Amino acid sequence: MDPAAARVALEAERQRLLAEIDETQPEAPEPMTYGSQAAAATQVFDQNRALALRERAQNELALVEAALERLDAGGYGTCLDCGRSIAEGRLEALPWAAYCVDCQRKQPR
Ligand SMILES: [Zn+2]
Repeated sequence: MDPAAARVALEAERQRLLAEIDETQPEAPEPMTYGSQAAAATQVFDQNRALALRERAQNELALVEAALERLDAGGYGTCLDCGRSIAEGRLEALPWAAYCVDCQRKQPR
């Protein structure tokens, strides 16, 4: 994959994730003025959902930033495990991929 194209894709993804993290910023704790049990439950649900989204975005951001670093260091597109080139199609679908398909399968989730 063309490093310039990879950089554009990674930067775009990085911006998107930063915006998502910003949007899911936990709000300042509101005074407990729940009108009802249901409203309280809804609020807790929303908070948990935002937290989960935020966590996912942060994990992905770490992957994207690591890929940008590899791009700067000249190691982009090489599997971190076996050192072989990551398939072109895989990088197009997942520009921040750090492992080839075979090694990804071996990674602990
Ligand atoms: Zn590999």
